[in-house]
Amino acid sequence: MNYYNEHTVLWLDGHIVKASEAKTDLYGQSLHYGYAVFEGIRSYRTAAGTTKIFKATEHFDRLKRSAEACNLPYPYTTPELIDATYEVLEKNQLQDAYIRPLVYAPANMSFNLNETSFTTIQTWAMAPFLGEKLLKVMTSSFQRPNPKGFNIEAKASGHYVNSILASQEAKAKGYDEALLTDMNGFIAEGPGANMFFEKDGRLFTPALGNILPGITRATVFEICRELSIPVEEGQFTPAQLARADAAFFCGTAAEVIGWDSIDGKAFPADWKDTLSRKVQLAYKDLVIEKQHQLEAI
Ligand code: PMP
Repeated sequence: MNYYNEHTVLWLDGHIVKASEAKTDLYGQSLHYGYAVFEGIRSYRTAAGTTKIFKATEHFDRLKRSAEACNLPYPYTTPELIDATYEVLEKNQLQDAYIRPLVYAPANMSFNLNETSFTTIQTWAMAPFLGEKLLKVMTSSFQRPNPKGFNIEAKASGHYVNSILASQEAKAKGYDEALLTDMNGFIAEGPGANMFFEKDGRLFTPALGNILPGITRATVFEICRELSIPVEEGQFTPAQLARADAAFFCGTAAEVIGWDSIDGKAFPADWKDTLSRKVQLAYKDLVIEKQHQLEAI
C-alpha cells in the first residue's frame, strides 16, 4: 500500500510539509516505547458533492482526552485541527479519505515527562479496512489489556501491539480477523473495531470499561434509536455470541461489516435479512449525509 507519493503533503505543527521530505527523530520516545496517541478518522464525498469529515469534533476531542490521559503536551484546539485537516485534504485533492492525526514525543530515552510534543495529520485514500465480504472471525488467544494497567479508553499507540498480535494470529490461522475477550473472559472488541451481535430482534454490545469507546459504536446507538432497534450493553460470554443470529464489527476504518462465522460456526441468519444489515445501510447513508434513506428504512 502506498500511503503517499511525491506530491502528497501532511500537516506538522502548523506547517504543510511534503510527506516525502518530513522527518522524525530515531531517538524518539514514541518510536522506542510506543508512547504516542492517535486518531483514525474518515472524510467522505457527501451526496451533495462536498467534503465532510465524519464526526470531526468527536474524534479530535478524543485525541485531546487521549493525550491528556497519557500526559502528552497538547497545545491545539479541536477547531484548529479540524481546519488543518480540511486544508490537508484539499491540498491532497482527497474527498473520500482516511485521516490519521498523531501526537508524539521528542527524543527522550527516559520515562520522564516531556515539555513538548509533535502533532502531525496525514491523509490517504483507503478502502474499508476489513474489506466488504462477511468475515470469518476467530476468538483470539490474546485478551485486551487490563484497564488497571493501561488507560484503555485512550487511543495510545502502544496498545496496538496487542491488536497487531491478535490480528496476525487470526490471519495465520486462516481467519479474516480476531475477536478479543477482556481480562475476565467476556467478549470485548476486535483489534481495531467494536462489535455487536444480534439475537431475536435485539442488538447486544460489550459495555464500556474494557474497550475503546468507539465513535462508530456511539453512531450505531444513534441509528438504532432512529430505527427503533433495541440495543443492550452488558457483559457477554463467547457462548452467548456463539448462539447469536448475526454479528458485526464497527469502526471508522472498518465502517459496519458483518460476520460470516465465529470460530468456524456460521451465523444462522441470512445477512441481508438482519437488523445488522439495516444498521450497515443506514451507516453508509449517514456518512454521506443521505438522511432521507435513513428515515425510509
Ligand atoms: N476498538 C479499537 C481497539 C479501535 O482501534 C477502534 C478504531 N479506532 C475502535 C474500537 C472503533 O473506534 P471508532 O469507531 O471510534 O473508530
